[in-house]
Amino acid sequence: MSLDRSAPSPPPPGAQRSWWLKEALDAEDAVVPAPPLTGDATADVAIVGGGYTGMWTAYFLTERAPGARIVLLEQDICGGGPSGRNGGFVHGWWEQLPYLVDLYGDERAMEIARAADEVVGGIGAWCERHDVDAWYEPHGYLRVNAFPGAQNDWDATVAKLERLGAGDELVPWSFAEVQRLCASPAFGDGLFMRSAASVQPARLARGLRRVLLERGVRIHEGSRVRSLRRGPRLELRTGGGTLTADQAVLGLNAWAAGWPGFRLRLLAWGSYMVITEPIPDRLAEIGWTGGELLSDSRFTISYFRTTRDGRIAFGGGVGAAGFDGRIDRTFTHDRHAIERVAANFRRLFPMLADVRLEDAWGGPIDISADRFPEIGSREGGRVHYAHGFAGNGTGPSRLAGRVLAALVDGGDDPLARLALVGHRQRIFPPEPMRYVGARVIREALIRRDDALDASRRPSWPVRLLTRIPSLMGYRFEH
Ligand SMILES: Cc1cc2nc3c(=O)[nH]c(=O)nc-3n(C[C@H](O)[C@H](O)[C@H](O)COP(=O)(O)OP(=O)(O)OC[C@H]3O[C@@H](n4cnc5c(N)ncnc54)[C@H](O)[C@@H]3O)c2cc1C
Repeated sequence: MSLDRSAPSPPPPGAQRSWWLKEALDAEDAVVPAPPLTGDATADVAIVGGGYTGMWTAYFLTERAPGARIVLLEQDICGGGPSGRNGGFVHGWWEQLPYLVDLYGDERAMEIARAADEVVGGIGAWCERHDVDAWYEPHGYLRVNAFPGAQNDWDATVAKLERLGAGDELVPWSFAEVQRLCASPAFGDGLFMRSAASVQPARLARGLRRVLLERGVRIHEGSRVRSLRRGPRLELRTGGGTLTADQAVLGLNAWAAGWPGFRLRLLAWGSYMVITEPIPDRLAEIGWTGGELLSDSRFTISYFRTTRDGRIAFGGGVGAAGFDGRIDRTFTHDRHAIERVAANFRRLFPMLADVRLEDAWGGPIDISADRFPEIGSREGGRVHYAHGFAGNGTGPSRLAGRVLAALVDGGDDPLARLALVGHRQRIFPPEPMRYVGARVIREALIRRDDALDASRRPSWPVRLLTRIPSLMGYRFEH
């Protein structure tokens, strides 16, 4: 490991809170964890998971059914999981529209894309209404082609959006336009999505928690649900107590990969981030002062954005797949993954080689077979769930929360009739095949990215392996 100031090493990731969550907790007046569940309690609706999905559901339920008794159970603290450690990229599904069209046809796909697009303005308006300072910046998202010598991959998507009358949502940018936004010699041309915003993710999560408490939602932190039993009413057991409820909502994200009934429908994968020291002057030198979101086109996508105090937060989907749905140190302690993220940062920003990386962390993302969330109900309509955001849930979890609240509420609601509601994902092979297959294919996809970075043609075994997921009907790539 080099201690050379020209390329400082990243700090080790680990069990510590993300930089975002530390910043958000420091900004709170007094952090008092909600008490764990003890003894017997009852609720109309039990929510498992204190991330965005669980908390947005609780929020929209307080809007739809103000008198409902809602109890939320979180094993850690609210925002302790990926909702408090993500990149803060908020956007809907415009880039996924062609795939939605293949699944559901033009009209129903557009309904979904419009509903998903609500999240961008919706989160901004919500923060304003509730006085939540989540550093909301609605300045768009630019994906750049950073593979030297390779053609961009978005022409067909752009043509399809134009045909559907949504051509303004994704606009190709020339090399010169990209350079004006952020001058890096590693960037080629780009694809700009105007409807996107950045947030300080943990401030959004903690803001949701505050608003829920103000609205009378009972939150129990440090309360891991160990079992959910069916009977005349549902029974959720934690180590300390039992909650009886009429309905339950599971906002479990990657933890659903270890949950009965969902185990084969999800693959947990690691995403890791680093954050630089404050460098506002250096950002000004490269012209990146508008708060725009950026990413490249790798399979293990590098995503990067600036912060209010002039840092770059830089992430990558470079972590490994987990085994049998266990969410363990693979997702938080992977030193190798952080070194990859740091190397990608140095490659895309060679002129910032001397900049110190101050913090590093990781978390699990939940990959479903087609990279869209499963949102639906089971157990006779008493248990509702949403997971499978594939590392893109910061915005869409708000849509999921709106849909889940509509499902709990019953009745006829256009949100509950969106075509993706009730869509069941293709299953993955059982363990150990899922684990071995995911690791081998992921490695091949990384090698393909590395070859394209070096302007080389990927080797034939790599080309063959990277085609396997689509041949088997899985949509691993963006
Ligand atoms: C490093 C990283 C970067 C990312 N960057 C982005 C990004 O920029 N943009 C984007 O759109 N998405 C991003 N994502 C994905 C995004 O964070 C998630 O899609 C989103 O937070 C999902 O919200 P959630 O509420 O479903 O999940 P979570 O935030 O994971 O919440 C689930 C909660 O359930 C709790 N839980 C699990 N099991 C139990 C149990 N048995 N009992 C009680 N509680 C339980 C967990 O502790 C957790 O707090 C990123 C993810 C990571 C890890």
